[in-house]
Amino acid sequence: MVALALFLALIGTLAAPRMADAQDGSDGSTYTVAPGDTLGAIATRYSVPLDALIAANGIQDPSLIRAGQELIIPNADGSLPIAAVAAVTETGAVRALAGETIATLAARFGQEPALVGELNGAPVSRRLFPGQPVRIPGQAVPPPSVNFGAITAVDAPAAIVQGRTGRIYVDTSRPLLLRGDWNGQPLIFTAIGDDGLRQFAFVPVDSLLEPGQYPLNLGYITTRGDFVQRAWPVQVESGPYDYQEIVVSEDKAAVLTPDVVVAERERVVETWSQITPSVFWEEPFERPIDTDYPTTSPFGTRRTYSVADIGNFHAGQDFGAPEGTLITAPAPGMVVLAEPLAVRGNAVIIDHGRGVFTGYWHMSERKVEPGMWVNTGDVLGLVGNTGLSTGAHLHWELRINGVAVDPMQFIDEPPFVGPEPAATAAP
Ligand SMILES: [Zn+2]
Repeated sequence: MVALALFLALIGTLAAPRMADAQDGSDGSTYTVAPGDTLGAIATRYSVPLDALIAANGIQDPSLIRAGQELIIPNADGSLPIAAVAAVTETGAVRALAGETIATLAARFGQEPALVGELNGAPVSRRLFPGQPVRIPGQAVPPPSVNFGAITAVDAPAAIVQGRTGRIYVDTSRPLLLRGDWNGQPLIFTAIGDDGLRQFAFVPVDSLLEPGQYPLNLGYITTRGDFVQRAWPVQVESGPYDYQEIVVSEDKAAVLTPDVVVAERERVVETWSQITPSVFWEEPFERPIDTDYPTTSPFGTRRTYSVADIGNFHAGQDFGAPEGTLITAPAPGMVVLAEPLAVRGNAVIIDHGRGVFTGYWHMSERKVEPGMWVNTGDVLGLVGNTGLSTGAHLHWELRINGVAVDPMQFIDEPPFVGPEPAATAAP
């Protein structure tokens, strides 16, 4: 249900781009960006002020428009064309006016704000960009398969908090090789179920990504060889992260020269860039350490270090525990790294499949070797204080497609069970 609401009627046929002067709206109030277009050229073509064009479409970075994006063309005085805001979109949504929230839009249509928020998976205080489609009760809502070929339903997240992982589910009428990307990274789709008609991908959000709207692009190559895709706007919301300064002791700082730090980063990045398409786990992750040992430093804290290039946020979750405490695998996977490192200390990395890796740093002893298969609960090593560490603890890190995300979400939530697909959630 979440996804349908923020569904933009965007369609780009990249293999066969529209003519540069084509207009999508029957009244000429919208325009679909063609390859090579700039906002300046579009503004000139329609004789509207550039800043009015930017404002009408809620564009935050004018250098970031993309082929297939639908723009509202404002009137010459900057106001929005009546047709653009009055029309019900092809998915049965209405469009927001400048400055509206879910609450004010609901009031305009005589609707209960909480119900509109629920339908759109958004709080009533959510700010909307001008022209943004919003579902309201009582509208006939066809499934978002309209004009989207073999894709029959998409459930994409409306909003994801910095450092958290969203999930997208796609239903198709036949097995499809889906292509998608989020913030410049490819989405890795995995079929769930036996018929291959439902696919799933994680949408990991970097903890430092600026809050705002980002397009999630999804498409496939048709039997005629055309690439068709649509974009979903996904709101990145700021996370509840603190700030701390880490002062590294002089003896440790002396070892951590820029060369050592950079070489080590390249080593771990290379490790978690080797993506295995299979999925090795089905259950929620288990804690990698006994519940007696609480979190001492949560994921995501913004940090500055007295040693350069270590990083600018806490990429994992720390559990304080005495030296020698058992560290266990939270889920099945293959050990792909087990070696001493300068910053991370005695380190182990496990590949859980489809781009998901977990890392365990600062161990006193490693109990596994690269190439070993581990099951949930198998011992990986012992808690220690090796590398850049100021006391015995386990640093537990989870990477998806190389992006560090909050690992605790994988304990709290089953991996592949999401909300019902949008098509069956229509009122
Ligand atoms: Zn840590």
